[in-house]
Amino acid sequence: VWLQAQSNLAKVLTHQTYTTWIEPIRFAGTRNNTLLLEAPNLFIRERVRESYLPMILESVRSLTDSHFQVELQIAAKPQEKTHKSSRKTNSGNELQEVDPEKPAPVEFSTNLNTKYTFETFVCGGSNQFAHAAAQSVANNPAGKYNPLFIYGGVGLGKTHLLTAIGNQVLAKNRKARVCFYTSEKFMNELINCLRYQKMDQFRNKFRKMDLLLIDDIQFIAGKERTQEEFFHTFNALYESHKQIVVTSDKFPKDIPGLEERLRSRFEWGLIADIQPPDTETKVAILRKKAENDGILLPDEVALFLASSASTNVRELEGMLIRLGAVSSLTGKNITLDMAREVLKDIIVDKTKEVSVEMIQKYVADHFNIKVADLKSDKRTKALVVPRQIAIYLCRDMTKASYPDIGDKFGGKDHSTIIHSVKKVDKLLTQDFELKNTIETLRKGLLS
Ligand code: ADP
Ligand code: MG
Repeated sequence: VWLQAQSNLAKVLTHQTYTTWIEPIRFAGTRNNTLLLEAPNLFIRERVRESYLPMILESVRSLTDSHFQVELQIAAKPQEKTHKSSRKTNSGNELQEVDPEKPAPVEFSTNLNTKYTFETFVCGGSNQFAHAAAQSVANNPAGKYNPLFIYGGVGLGKTHLLTAIGNQVLAKNRKARVCFYTSEKFMNELINCLRYQKMDQFRNKFRKMDLLLIDDIQFIAGKERTQEEFFHTFNALYESHKQIVVTSDKFPKDIPGLEERLRSRFEWGLIADIQPPDTETKVAILRKKAENDGILLPDEVALFLASSASTNVRELEGMLIRLGAVSSLTGKNITLDMAREVLKDIIVDKTKEVSVEMIQKYVADHFNIKVADLKSDKRTKALVVPRQIAIYLCRDMTKASYPDIGDKFGGKDHSTIIHSVKKVDKLLTQDFELKNTIETLRKGLLS
C-alpha cells in the first residue's frame, strides 16, 4: 500500500518535493488500523508531518478504502544499516547461504540479457511502483514480496525490469541460480522433456532455482499440462523460500483461462503495475537511450518524439534508432525537420486528432450526464465539475481557442472558459483524484 501511495503522490508532487520528503519515508509495519511509516530523521518527520501528512493520509485511504490512520515514526537506526542487518538475520533466505565452492549441480543457462539492468531503466511516475518492487526483490529475494507479479501493456518495460532483477541478484552473488524463461520457452522445454521422458531432469532443474523469472505468464493460460507443472514448480520454490517473479500483460484476474489455483498464488505476493509513461518520462528514456547509443539527440527532437501519441517505449526506441541511422548514413545531425521528415508516417498516423465534440461526448458519458447539460449554464455540482474538466481538456487537447470553446459550450463568454481552465489547473496541484480522472479521460480519448 505504501509503495502504491508513494507512487500516487509522486504523480501530484513536484519531483523535488517528492524525492526530498516522500521518497525517504519507509513502510515500517501496521498496528490495528494504523499504517506505521518511518522517516529517516527528526527533521524530515517534522516537515512531512506539517506539510504532507494530510496528503499521505488521503492517498493511503484512497487505496485501502478504510479509516486507516497513519503514524510517522523516526527510524531507529540509519536505514541502510537496518536494511543490511535485517538481511543477515533473514535465515529463510537461502540465496545468501549458497556455498560458493559448490557448483550448481544442474547445468543451465540464465538466459539473461545483460543490457537490461536497473542502471539502464528510467524510473518515472508510471513505473515507479513496479521499479521499487523489483529493486526490493533484487535486494532481498524471497523477502517480503514473493511472488512478485508485474503487469502492464506492451513495450512498457516488463521484460526489462524482470531481467534487471536477475542481473542484479547475479551481480551480488555470482553463484546464485537464476534463470529467465518466457512462458513459451518453459512450455517447449516441458513438452520436450515429456516426449523424451526426461521429466526428472526438468523438475530437478526448475525446482533448484534460487530465482525463477517467467516472462509473459499469460501465455500458459489454457495450457493445462504447463499450468500443472508450473504450479508444482511454484510450490516447490515457494516452500523452500525461493523467489519467483512473473510478468503478464494483464492483472491475474483478467487472464482468461488461467487456473484459479495459480491466480490465487499470484495474489499471495505483491502485484505491481506499469502504466504508460508520461511525456517527461518518455523524454528521459529517449535521452538515456541516445546517450548510451552515442546518438546526438537535441531536446526539441526528444520532446517531439515523446509528445507523439505512442506510449510504447519500444516504438519510441524504434523512432530513435531510425533517426540515428539516417543521421549516420547521411552524415547530418539530427534536427527537428529531419525528425518530422523521417517519421512523418509514424507520427502523423499516431497523432489522433481530438475534437471538442469528441471530448464533450466522452466526458459526458464518463460522468453519466447529457452533452446538453454539459453545455448548459446549470450550476449543480454534478454538472459544474464535469463541465470544467471538459473545458480544460478541450483547451489542452485541441487547437480550439477560448472563444471557439465558449461557442461550443452553449455560447459562453471566453472569460468563463479561461476561468474554468485556470480553476482546474489550480486544483490539479492539490487534488490527485482529479488528476487521475483527467489522465484517464485523456488516455481514453487518445486510444
Ligand atoms: P514489455 O516486456 O513490457 O513489452 P520491454 O521490457 O521489452 O517491454 O521494453 C521495451 C523496450 O523499451 C526495451 O528496449 C526496454 O529497454 C525499453 N524500456 C521500457 N521501459 C523503459 C524504461 N523505463 N527505461 C528504459 N528503457 C525502457
Ligand atoms: Mg516483454
